[in-house]
Amino acid sequence: LADPQLEALQNADVAALLPRPEGSSDKYRRGVVGIAAGSERYPGAAVLAVSGALRGGAGAVRYAGPGGDAVLARHPEVLVSAGAPAGAGRVQAWVVGPGLGDSADARRAVADVLASSVPVLVDADGLRLLSPEAVRGRSAPTLLTPHAGEAAALLGRSREEVEARRLDAVRGLAARYGATVLLKGATTLVAEPSSRAAVRVNPTGTPWLATAGSGDVLSGVTGSLLAAGLSPLDAASCGAYLHGLAARLASRGAPLSALDVADALPTAWGSLS
Ligand code: AMP
Ligand code: MG
Repeated sequence: LADPQLEALQNADVAALLPRPEGSSDKYRRGVVGIAAGSERYPGAAVLAVSGALRGGAGAVRYAGPGGDAVLARHPEVLVSAGAPAGAGRVQAWVVGPGLGDSADARRAVADVLASSVPVLVDADGLRLLSPEAVRGRSAPTLLTPHAGEAAALLGRSREEVEARRLDAVRGLAARYGATVLLKGATTLVAEPSSRAAVRVNPTGTPWLATAGSGDVLSGVTGSLLAAGLSPLDAASCGAYLHGLAARLASRGAPLSALDVADALPTAWGSLS
């Protein structure tokens, strides 16, 4: 890319970064990802985030929240607990937010995962329950994954202002929250808190991804990569890369559903040399 501030990963970069099990691996060493998502009103978001997480390279997926029945109906391999994340057992990275709503339980879920000492990805409704201080005070890294509307709310700007200056928005958010930020949209950008760091641009994807629930799948696959040990920057850029590649493979120019994207993630992974 011509702009020295921007860098784009290629197939070989992503292939080298993706976690692969060693001969002696067991599921716990491969990473356990926790998903705190969904609500009585939006149980589907939990299923979609879990679907992404199951294809992101962690050894196990744990779900904490009220959507356990819906999750198990589609994914019997998930460890489900009905209560708050704090009681959920060992987890190496948390995803919090998709379909969470803004109930007292939702607030508790966000507070619980922020209080943990593992990396946390915050998406969707979780972003509305955050303060910069709570994120800055964490002992482990945090990754925020807003779309333009969510980024605008966090910055106190209009959506149009964010869309017009996306690079400025993603950098400003990363600096304000002291977090890695993935700004979703037609072009996805990933920024680090340091103003000197380059911003990564995702080269994969398709406008067919503009479909309900596709962001929930992205949060799951990216959280799984975090649990497997990737840095927030690498997890975010590899997650967006795989998600965009999976969407292209699943779509081939035709409409797709968010679950189609999740189902195509293993093929996308396997297509990388
Ligand atoms: P969300 O808004 O949280 O559902 O996430 C939507 C997902 O679709 C993100 O991964 C976006 O980057 C992607 N997306 C949305 N619109 C487009 C577009 N026009 N072209 C490519 N990707 C898109
Ligand atoms: Mg979303």
